[in-house]
Amino acid sequence: MPSVDRSKPPTDWPGLETAGLTQLTEDLYYGWLEDEANPMFWHRCAALAGVPEDRTVSGQWVGAGTHKHTLVSREPLHMEPSLLWRCCNMHGFVRNGVWIPA
Ligand SMILES: [Zn+2]
Repeated sequence: MPSVDRSKPPTDWPGLETAGLTQLTEDLYYGWLEDEANPMFWHRCAALAGVPEDRTVSGQWVGAGTHKHTLVSREPLHMEPSLLWRCCNMHGFVRNGVWIPA
């Protein structure tokens, strides 16, 4: 396994070159995995701040699919309902390609 610098955002990770990664905020990205209709999101999880990287799956970044959400529009991205990550309670809407904190 090549080592990956997980302090960098997922746009810099090998293996995701074809995912069309898009930055929503400094701490939030999404991309498209093969065979997935809905986007995958990666957020820099505040709950993992200070946790040593070798004790995490991918540094402070947490990946999560959105298969339970409705993909209203792919371009610009619009998902319904709001997205909530319970690990750190990051919560907001993605509408018109923009992250709107809830
Ligand atoms: Zn989190």
